[in-house]
Amino acid sequence: MDTGGNSLPSGADGLKRKVCYFYDPEVGNYYYGQGHPMKPHRMRMTHALLTHYGLLQYMQVLKPNPAREKDLCRFHADDYISFLRRVTPETQQDNLRQLKRFNVGEDCPVFDGLYSFCQTYAGGSIGGAVKLNHGHCDIAVNWAGGLHHAKKCEASGFCYVNDIVLAILELLKAHERVLYVDIDIHHGDGVEEAFYATNRVMTVSFHKFGDYFPGTGDIRDVGYGKGRHYALNVPLDDGIDDESYQSLFKPVISKVMEVFRPGAVVLQCGADSLSGDRLGCFNLSVKGHAECVRFMRSFNVPLLLLGGGGYTIRNVARCWCYETSVALGVKIDDKMPEHEYIEYFGPDYTLHVAPSNMENKNSREMLEEIRLQLLENISKLEHAPSVQFHERPSDAELPEADEDEDNKDERNHADFDVNADYERTSSHSRVRIEFVDPMTDDKNDEAMDRLARDMESTIIEMTGSKGSTFAAEKEEVTHFKAEEDSRNLHDEPAEMDQN
Ligand SMILES: [Zn+2]
Repeated sequence: MDTGGNSLPSGADGLKRKVCYFYDPEVGNYYYGQGHPMKPHRMRMTHALLTHYGLLQYMQVLKPNPAREKDLCRFHADDYISFLRRVTPETQQDNLRQLKRFNVGEDCPVFDGLYSFCQTYAGGSIGGAVKLNHGHCDIAVNWAGGLHHAKKCEASGFCYVNDIVLAILELLKAHERVLYVDIDIHHGDGVEEAFYATNRVMTVSFHKFGDYFPGTGDIRDVGYGKGRHYALNVPLDDGIDDESYQSLFKPVISKVMEVFRPGAVVLQCGADSLSGDRLGCFNLSVKGHAECVRFMRSFNVPLLLLGGGGYTIRNVARCWCYETSVALGVKIDDKMPEHEYIEYFGPDYTLHVAPSNMENKNSREMLEEIRLQLLENISKLEHAPSVQFHERPSDAELPEADEDEDNKDERNHADFDVNADYERTSSHSRVRIEFVDPMTDDKNDEAMDRLARDMESTIIEMTGSKGSTFAAEKEEVTHFKAEEDSRNLHDEPAEMDQN
């Protein structure tokens, strides 16, 4: 099969990949509050497993530079980000109107260090994109990222800022087309929405559909305007197992890779699709989940691996540790090494656990029907659409829409704007060839800032049924406020001592 890939800096045929792994030692200290299922502690557990399995030595371990306000505002509204920066648990009651407006308070609570937490997880994903753009690695990993529900002016589903959208905007500076794949059990609505009207980003989300948060992701939702057929939704039912999942994942992704030919891929590895998740209802094993990573990796295209959901935290740590080993191409034992969180993994103390015997509600007939429908949708998209050549837009104004553009509404969609910023590197010799460091080019920054402001966030009606996504439970974790790091994304991220 022609994958259209083979673009990795360290060569296409090697079994090993150059991996950059982003981790902030403070990230595990952020705490959403008592009973909240989202626990940043799971990233610390993952890191401890990686350390004691001896995997850190095979990759570059980087502490992310915190994303700055202007970085976050490339996608998000200024007033929303400024609110996130200012709000504290003590003062939140003085801002009831804004809390409501920005959907902050219940599923997305205000907690100590909230803004630094956002800066940290977004900094890792953007930093990963920068590393990939520069060809410094083949695969970049940020398990703290993947918060796919956040909207331009609204928090949603435990997500405040959408690090994925920000990372994709970064990748678009160096790549004509970026593919986004989402294997979280929830629909990747925030990312889909941001790029719904562009053919430069294709989004593919596999998720539980039907009376389930966030309610979007119907197979009939395929994109809009120039983005029509560049969004793909795979609706699944309870109890899906490894075999059923891969019977859709592999043929669909193979076809997408062949037809769309992305220059980079972002894979959101939400672990709430694993068997036994506290909020999920799928029945995937860690190996079945990781098969998606193995498969994406096999295309030899720069790959950004992100986290996401995952609420049975011992299984989240198992999954992301194993997936890191898959990214590296290093085999690791099922028997877990002794480490500080070993008691979470009893009674077996193994990396892999058997899925349950729950019923698989996805019948063969249903899966086949979905597969055929998706392949038909993919057949309708233009092969590897090329970005139209534009001169770099002046600082004062973005280019006018094409004269033959008959739909004025499309001018405000992501498609128009992301196209405006891209410069081809082939065949147009008068265009600058080098990919400027996107984070240090002020002109580029300004164009992107404008781009983000102009991006329309909600495109057309989506069948949404919002609801609370968890029931409160009692739990006990330490409380901690992280200090803000003054360094910014311009700097090379600090390489960490791996001991
Ligand atoms: Zn989820």
